[in-house]
Amino acid sequence: MPITPTKKIWMNGTLVDWDDATIHILNPTLHYGWGVFEGIRAYGTSQGTAVFRLTDHIARLFRSAKVYFLEPDFTEAEIVAATKEVVRIAEVESCYVRPIMYLGYGEMGLNPLPSRTEVAIACWPWGLYLGPEAMANGCRAMTSSWQHINQNSIAPQGKGTGQYVNSSLSKVAALKAGYDEAVLLSPAGNVVQGTGENIFIVKGRTLITPPIQEGLLAGITRESVMTIARDQGYEVVEHALVRTDLYMADEGFFTGTAAEIVPIASVDDRNVGTGKPGPITKELSEIFSAATRGEVDRYKEWNEHVRD
Ligand code: PMP
Repeated sequence: MPITPTKKIWMNGTLVDWDDATIHILNPTLHYGWGVFEGIRAYGTSQGTAVFRLTDHIARLFRSAKVYFLEPDFTEAEIVAATKEVVRIAEVESCYVRPIMYLGYGEMGLNPLPSRTEVAIACWPWGLYLGPEAMANGCRAMTSSWQHINQNSIAPQGKGTGQYVNSSLSKVAALKAGYDEAVLLSPAGNVVQGTGENIFIVKGRTLITPPIQEGLLAGITRESVMTIARDQGYEVVEHALVRTDLYMADEGFFTGTAAEIVPIASVDDRNVGTGKPGPITKELSEIFSAATRGEVDRYKEWNEHVRD
């Protein structure tokens, strides 16, 4: 999806013009994928723009950094404040926000430890990640022939830049085959997640999503949806799923910051339920969407306003 530039990008404590936010071609993160990042969204609310669960996202960024021995010169609180500043000065009502920690220029080779840790934060307006058609009518998913990375290959719980090659290989295969999104399976054949989303199925009044141990990212949208669903009186369980569970579910949906909540119409050409967005998916999606816009009192602490 194309990027619409905003004015400034925060780089290591300085606001630089969008076009000047560049790094050297011999930056080691470009070559070896040793970096960590976040994807966050800010939404318009009646009290101005608010970043959704910003503190939780930055906490996850710092947990990911730990996996990769990245040691930024900034505290979590400083990165939270810098993110708010970037969104504030962008003067957009809503946007996607991308903080990244990467290696500084100067060292090369597979040992990242001598390199400095650099931090940048950018934001730009970004529409529906899987498009309006998928959002309205559900997306067509296929199981990927690429296995999901596992705990013994790359650290799936850290949001490392390099591990997204696994997601992109699956995404490209799905798009080339005419689908909207891929579902990745673990080496054991269990459902893990989408390429940039967690996955849920609905059976009766129960929501089922794979447990963290399958090698998925502990999504903040996943957690928000679990909270909303429980508050609405649904049972939510974390349990291993195999691909046939997707085929046989009443409803299915993906969750993620970029994607938000996207109904799954079919998996491997089998309709999930009726093949249309299900009632529970729609209900949770409406509440989630209202919560992002600061319209649900119960979830107001999720709206972190960029202006006091
Ligand atoms: N899984 C993967 C692989 C992702 O990239 C993302 C997006 N960050 C998610 C799940 C969803 O996480 P979140 O809801 O925190 O955006």
